[in-house]
Amino acid sequence: MADNEGRRLRYAIIGAGMAGILAAIRLNQRGDADFSVFEKADRLGGTWRENRYPGLTCDVPAHAYTYSFAPYAEWSAYYSSGAEILTYFEWVAREWGVASSIRYGHEVTGCMWDDTRACWTLTFSNGGQAEADVVVAASGVLHHPNIPDIEGLKDFSGKAFHSAQWDDEADLDGKRVGIIGSGSTGIQLLTALYERAEKLVHFQRSPQWIMPVPQFEYSDAEREAFRKDVGLIDAIRNDPEYWANVMRFTDGITDFDSPQMLQIEEICRQNLEGTVKDAVLREKLRPDYRAACKRLIYSWQYYDCVQAPNVEVETGRIARIEAEGVRMEDGTFHELDVLVLATGFLADRFIRPAVVSGREGRLLDEFWAERPTAYYAVTLPEFPNFFMLNGPTGPVGNFSLIDIAERQWDYLDQLAEPLRTGDARWVEPRAEAFADYEERRIESAKKTIFGSGCSSWYLDKTGIPATWPWTYQAFADAMAAPVWSDYHLEPNPANQET
Ligand code: NAP
Repeated sequence: MADNEGRRLRYAIIGAGMAGILAAIRLNQRGDADFSVFEKADRLGGTWRENRYPGLTCDVPAHAYTYSFAPYAEWSAYYSSGAEILTYFEWVAREWGVASSIRYGHEVTGCMWDDTRACWTLTFSNGGQAEADVVVAASGVLHHPNIPDIEGLKDFSGKAFHSAQWDDEADLDGKRVGIIGSGSTGIQLLTALYERAEKLVHFQRSPQWIMPVPQFEYSDAEREAFRKDVGLIDAIRNDPEYWANVMRFTDGITDFDSPQMLQIEEICRQNLEGTVKDAVLREKLRPDYRAACKRLIYSWQYYDCVQAPNVEVETGRIARIEAEGVRMEDGTFHELDVLVLATGFLADRFIRPAVVSGREGRLLDEFWAERPTAYYAVTLPEFPNFFMLNGPTGPVGNFSLIDIAERQWDYLDQLAEPLRTGDARWVEPRAEAFADYEERRIESAKKTIFGSGCSSWYLDKTGIPATWPWTYQAFADAMAAPVWSDYHLEPNPANQET
């Protein structure tokens, strides 16, 4: 006899950032599961909790960087600050009733699948354990700071710290400040610090293409209008121009000579040439790689700020760091009081260093020996009932990762249905389907703009872009419904007709 009453699944959600909060809300709304969110820190917010450097701004318009079900009237500007975004996530977690499901101080150190019992055991650095039928790894991507291996870093007598480990005690006002790194973070830092510092030296190993974007503040009257009429917020979220830009970008990445990419490149080139007046500085800031090969930087102010008289762009190679400053290979010495390392993150970690072992003790570390990857960025063969949100090979770009996570949730929620009905004990992608996905993904990834000849955190250690290599629409289509024939559903003997 089939038992069709279904099972009340136990979910372990790892990480209380944007994606973990989403998972908790969706499960809360279903009302048919038990779940906990395990969070290593003592506050939710993920990347928006960790990063609080001056100038931190999301480069997705604020009204587009919200959950589809939780519009927010309170944004102060078109592009919002990191602090405001953190407030938003705290508000959502409270209002949608999942704040109390977060178990802080629970850093996951291990996830072990039990073949016999078909469930996961999680271990925590605090010595505790928990059991779950389903794991949702929402542990983020960029959360392990890349501390550069530069000789003498420890000898610096002033304060030196990574952008994601901001030192609130550091005195920046009227000081000589150095920033190493010119990714999104370094650029934002420069725009926020140059007016406070007496002198700012930007150590730029590679220049960046800059996409000009508008920025403006919302007035009290506008916020009041948003509160009264959510349609006004929807109009911004669904703004055809914003979506045209998203589509232009995601359509263009698949072919670096596409009209869309050439158009993006032309806008960036005109921005550089039309804004930076000094010819020497202009050439220092001109990249020698294609626009959007590294993550395209959106800024309304960088080129204005970098031309300030107290800013120096240093393009030489750093020889070493000394007690009083930074020595370049050509002998130039920059005396500094504070040194900020905007040197990015180890982008291949995901849930690691937690030890994850799947069926028959298969280790995730081994599975990812060549590169971190996942079937359609969500599931892994041999790791049953294990789902990733914003996992490897998912879309990246200057658009909302919330939207991506929502689509991934809808996909994995469908995969969990046979577990809920009790028809299957576990679900995982078939090895052949995964191998086929990897082959197609890698072939396509080589042809994307990200693989057009630059270094970036998008590339895996073999130089293959680890990003979604197809269009946004292809992603949306893939997430709309699983291809069930690509999945193995382990039958549940208890539910078989006799
Ligand atoms: P990043 O893009 O990886 O940039 C790191 C920078 O540090 C690069 O300029 C790199 O130079 C430089 N660098 C690294 N090691 C160095 C060394 N040993 N010596 C000299 N320079 C060194 O990191 P990020 O700026 O923190 O940004 C990472 C990602 O976070 C972004 O791409 C974006 O996805 C996200 N982010 C988003 C926002 C937002 O507005 N939404 C804001 C900040 C960050 P090379 O380029 O030469 O390697």
